[in-house]
Parts: sequence; C-alpha cells; structure tokens
Amino acid sequence: MSSEQTEVLVVGGGQAGIAMSEHLTRGGVPHIVVERDRIAERWRSWRWDSLVANGPAWHDRFPGKEFDLDPDAFAGKEQVADYLAAYAGSFDAPIRTGVEVTSVRRNAGRPGFRAATSGGPIEARFVVAATGAFQTPIIPDVVPGDAGIHQLHSSSYRNPAQLPPGGVMVVGAGSSGVQIADELRASGREVHLAVGPHDRPPRSYRDRDFCWWLGVLGKWDAAAPAAGAEHVTIAVSGANGGRTVDFRRLAGSGITLLGRAGAYRDGVMAFAPDLAANIAAGDANYLSLLREADAFVERNGLDLPEEPEAHVLGGDPDCVTDPVLSVDLAAAGITSIVWAVGFGADYSWLEVDTFDERGRPRHQRGVSRELGVYFLGLPWQSRRGSSFLWGVWHDAKYIADQIAIQRGYLAYDEARQPTLPAPTPRIADALRGASRRGGPALATTGAA
Ligand SMILES: Cc1cc2nc3c(=O)[nH]c(=O)nc-3n(C[C@H](O)[C@H](O)[C@H](O)COP(=O)(O)OP(=O)(O)OC[C@H]3O[C@@H](n4cnc5c(N)ncnc54)[C@H](O)[C@@H]3O)c2cc1C
Repeated sequence: MSSEQTEVLVVGGGQAGIAMSEHLTRGGVPHIVVERDRIAERWRSWRWDSLVANGPAWHDRFPGKEFDLDPDAFAGKEQVADYLAAYAGSFDAPIRTGVEVTSVRRNAGRPGFRAATSGGPIEARFVVAATGAFQTPIIPDVVPGDAGIHQLHSSSYRNPAQLPPGGVMVVGAGSSGVQIADELRASGREVHLAVGPHDRPPRSYRDRDFCWWLGVLGKWDAAAPAAGAEHVTIAVSGANGGRTVDFRRLAGSGITLLGRAGAYRDGVMAFAPDLAANIAAGDANYLSLLREADAFVERNGLDLPEEPEAHVLGGDPDCVTDPVLSVDLAAAGITSIVWAVGFGADYSWLEVDTFDERGRPRHQRGVSRELGVYFLGLPWQSRRGSSFLWGVWHDAKYIADQIAIQRGYLAYDEARQPTLPAPTPRIADALRGASRRGGPALATTGAA
C-alpha cells in the first residue's frame, strides 16, 4: 500500500505536539502531527468542570503568546484548550485530528519508520512520541468491582452531582485529590482523604506566586531526582482564585484525613499510620521554601512585604494526632471512591527497542535509544518543569535541535554519494540551513 512521506511524524496533538510543531516549523522541517481526538483533548474531556490551571496565566503558557486574561488569574480548562488550539492555528501547525497511530516500526534495510494510522500509512525519517505523561488512568486493583462501591479515576470526575448520594473517599493528595476533596466537601458531602507524601508550596508568599519563587530559586529547572529517589507529588491549587493547600484547613472544613490507602477486605479499607509523617514532611517543604524565599529577598535587596504569619502553622487536627487506621466503608456511609493516584504510560503502538522491563522509555533528555525516535512531555524529561505547559516548550526546542543535527549528517552523506541523483529539495533545504516555513511533505510513494 502506498504511504505518505514526511520528515518527522509527531504523535499527539496536546501541548507537547504543538510545541514540537512550532520548533520544526521554525526550522523549516516538513512534518505531520497526528492526534486521535481534538487538539488539546485532554484539557477538554479529561478534567473536571471547575478545573483551572495550577499556575497563573502569566506563567502557565508558551513564551510566544499570552492568555487573553488578567495575568494573575488562573485559566479555566476550556480556556487552556482554546489557547492551545489558537496557538497551533497561529503558525498553521500541520495537525491531523481524529487520526490514531496504531503502530510505528523501523524500516528494514533502509532508514526511517513506517507508521500505521487510521488515516493510512505514513513514512517518516524521525518520530516524536508526544503522547504525554498522563496517558492511562490508574485505578489500583484494591476494591473489587462487585463491592457495591462506585469507583472512578480523577480524570473521569466532573462535579459532585455526578456521584451517587453518600460519602466519598478520595485517594491521593496531589493537586487533583485535594481540589476534588475540597469541592466535594463544599458541596455538603462527607469526605475522607487519603494523604501520601507531597510537597505543598505556598500559593503565594511576600506578594509573589509560588511559580515565581520556584522560577527564581531555580527549582523548575531542578534535574531529575536520583534513580531510586521517590518522586513526590506537588499539592497546589488555583481554584477559587488560588490559595495554599493546607491540610489543617481541609480537616477544619470536616474532611477526615487518612494515611496512605492500603488493602481492602470485607468492606473495610486499611490505611498506613503515616499521616502525621506525611503532613510533617509537607510542612517542612512549605517552610523551607519560605526560608529560601526570605534569603533570596535579602540577598537581592528586594522590596517585598514581610509575611511572618505565613510561618505559623497551627496545631494538628484530631485525625492527625489520633489517626484512623481502618474505615468500614458502609458504616461510614461511603458510596464512592475517587482514585487520584496518577497515570501510567502506554507506548504499545511504538514497536521499537527503547523501553525498560516496565515499559518506561529509556532516553536522555527525550533522545531515545532507538536512533530517530524521540519522546516529549515526560515527567522530569530534562527538569522538574518538563511535563508542564511552559517546560515542554523548551524540551521541544531541544528535540528540534537534535533532529536538525541528525538531518545535517544525513544531508552531508547524501551530498557525498556520487552515484545518487542530485539532492532532493528537502535535503537541499537542509544543506542551506533552510528557513522556509514547515509543513507536511505530501509526496506519496509505493514503498512497502
Ligand atoms: C488534572 C491535571 C491538571 C494539570 N494542570 C496543569 C496546569 O495547570 N499547568 C500545567 O502546566 N500543566 C498541568 N498539567 C500537566 C500537563 O500540562 C497536562 O497533563 C497536559 O495535558 C500534558 O500535555 P501533553 O501534550 O504532554 O499530553 P496530552 O495533553 O495528554 O496530549 C497527548 C495527546 O496524544 C494523543 N494520543 C495519544 N496516543 C495517540 C496515538 N496512538 N495516536 C494519536 N494520538 C495519540 C492524545 O489523544 C492526546 O491528545 C495537568 C495535568 C493534569 C492531569
């Protein structure tokens, strides 16, 4: 079957795919972005109704475009999706929506890759997997499906009215878990929240948002945690104008805090005795950021208002000092569990040799072990900020650079092949350091 030819195939039309397309376009590299749903679909249909960005509009964006919002406001999920769609439109990103890539294989005996897609085969010299860090919702195999409990993942949660009447157990206290628990409690539900290890920066301190502090203190650029070191989730919220995630306030509002969720047996769920330790570690993280911020202010002679009250945490609530280690779900009136424990990866379509025994990509800054295959949007791909809106743009720039370097070698080789016909326009472009706008190379070939 004939296949369409291009230079770079980008799989995924979320923020990672769009950023990749922008950098390829700037370099004049022909490419196609293939997205199985709509542009930025995850922001539209995988988030709850009231979700707003975790960072203010001035920060959570690409460098080249501002939100049409108060810079200190938090964009709603639809506004983020609209922003990304408009951004892609601003440089005519060659995105094909409604097309799924079902497999990518290396060509045998010749360079490049062949992708099978629902829109027909595509051949490309390079492939960028921009399918992101949040692919497969994880619901641990803890509570059996026939236990009479309504279970859903945070990505399927929309609003309190969606859940059957009764109490709700929220498992996971990263940004999703705490925001969903808070919203459910505010709607009048009885809520239990299982809290694991977390970082919880102040929403703002001394008149600057935490995004600013993490930036000036170099923490968004922190390199990946050492192998084996635990990745700790970050609990922040832009909801209701943005306020610090404070587990004492959540307990004060009537939410029962628990330690890490454990096994389930005969209607009873067990919890680790680690709630106090998790809260204390989160507090330590919070306080250390305040201290680093104070030191930064002093060192640089900044005129930012002091905020001594931010250092006062208050006493621990009863559920922390006298922890609940098991909950009989029916007796507690709990009818639903929201699992806010994160996402897994699914690269089953990418049939190349660059995955470890657990299916995780082996790569260095997104450059895979399979020459010609790149990843984008991975957590900690190059730094803490990698999977976020602003961070992925910089990683995309790096990947575009790596592709340009490889194209340069290929162009040199083609130019030195005496028996080959004159360089194709594509290679000639590369040799001249082409600056024309990118777009898909639409030639088709009968290559098998
Ligand atoms: C609840 C939540 C809130 C978040 N809030 C923020 C925030 O406020 N600020 C911030 O910076 N970051 C935030 N993030 C993190 C991150 O910015 C988002 O998850 C973002 O959607 C990641 O973008 P991406 O392009 O890497 O991946 P995705 O948005 O997941 O895009 C990947 C795309 O690939 C497509 N795809 C997958 N497989 C295939 C295939 N085989 N063929 C074709 N297409 C395929 C999918 O349909 C999808 O559209 C949040 C994440 C979550 C889960």
